[in-house]
Amino acid sequence: MFEAMAQQQVVSLHIENPPAFSLESAGKSKNYSFTRSNTHQGNLSGPQKEEVRGTHHHRHLDKILESLGLGIWCCDLPFKSLGWNTMCKRHFGLPPDAEVTIDIFYELLHPDDRAVAQQAIERSIAENGLFDMDCRTTGIDGQMRWIHTSGRCYDDDESRSKHFDGIIFDITEQKQVELALREQLERLKVFDTRKDEFFSMASHELKSPITSLKGYTQMLQNRFRKAGDGQALYYLTIMDGQLNKLIDLVNDMLDISRIQTGKLNFRDTLFDLGMVVRETVEHLQATTPAHQLIVEGIESAQVYGDKDRIGQVLINLLNNAIKYSPYADRVIVRIFTDQEYATVSVQDFGLGIDEEHLEKVFERFYQVHGLANKESSGLGIGLYISDQIIKRHGGAMQVESKLGAGSTFSFTLPLSRKDIPSA
Ligand code: ADP
Repeated sequence: MFEAMAQQQVVSLHIENPPAFSLESAGKSKNYSFTRSNTHQGNLSGPQKEEVRGTHHHRHLDKILESLGLGIWCCDLPFKSLGWNTMCKRHFGLPPDAEVTIDIFYELLHPDDRAVAQQAIERSIAENGLFDMDCRTTGIDGQMRWIHTSGRCYDDDESRSKHFDGIIFDITEQKQVELALREQLERLKVFDTRKDEFFSMASHELKSPITSLKGYTQMLQNRFRKAGDGQALYYLTIMDGQLNKLIDLVNDMLDISRIQTGKLNFRDTLFDLGMVVRETVEHLQATTPAHQLIVEGIESAQVYGDKDRIGQVLINLLNNAIKYSPYADRVIVRIFTDQEYATVSVQDFGLGIDEEHLEKVFERFYQVHGLANKESSGLGIGLYISDQIIKRHGGAMQVESKLGAGSTFSFTLPLSRKDIPSA
């Protein structure tokens, strides 16, 4: 606008034969020449001096906009010569004194962005509406820049003319960062897919040899029991315990793959959650010498869902409670109900979890760092699987914890409607 206005004001001072600046000279196909304006002020009359002073104010403003990196364009419709300030021209690699037309503008856009820009401009003009887009310019200096431009088409009621004005700024750096991030994200997605595939393949491959080892271990246990070989039996029992841990791990890995592919199956029935709690605790207590597992609360609560999967969640919570409270001697399991839900909570008096990790412990592969318990094994998937199982049943998992003061993990399940048949 300012450049254009300046050019209009000093029109009488144009050099007769200005040196032409052409796209061709910059290696472009078309030959656009840009007229240059002279700002020489010698021997001017009073009104001419005023005009030139006005021109200087505009130049001053143009400098400010230049330092802000803000390009401004003002066009009278229909398009003839476009009013662009110096910064606007610089975004297209044009010299400050270049004269610009709509054809030059389109020519300097990246070929892939031309049609979109033209459509957006035509729509804005047709609707007297806003114009806003990111596009690339391939300036006559051969440099590609990303620009953001936005403006508006409007009727000037006073002059009874139509205008299309707006701003433009360079977003090349921002776009480069954005593109780099997008590429990075794509690469991460590929890695993530490969990791999931590997996880699934590895767990399937591990499943059969471990199942076979388990079978042979049991067979040997029977033999040595019959033979009365106590020592061999003792070693085999240890081996069997380690195999059980491996089986749990592989089953968790398989569950993760099934969750990813939406193939985690459920066999829903009506069952007594109270009974599942008591049976699970009793079963686990048999192999947990260091902790006393205490059950508190109501006896029975009818819920509808997959009994084994809910048992799996409880076992995970109890195993964690034991694993992460190596210096405590008890774990308390509570079961209670309200109008709609049954809740089971598992409280331990162990290491606890710092607040910053609490929200993330249900994420896949998340493990709390800095725990003193280096011996604890795990993949950081048990709570993720549990959370998925409970969500599938229409319930929710929760955790309350304080570093050094223990944790309480709990889950809710909707109480069953009476009309669902018991299995
Ligand atoms: P993991 O197999 O690593 O135990 P989980 O998904 O079951 O995986 O648990 C995720 C992480 O949450 C654990 O690595 C542990 O850091 C933390 N965590 C889980 N339960 C407890 C608990 N009762 N006390 C302290 N930290 C816990």
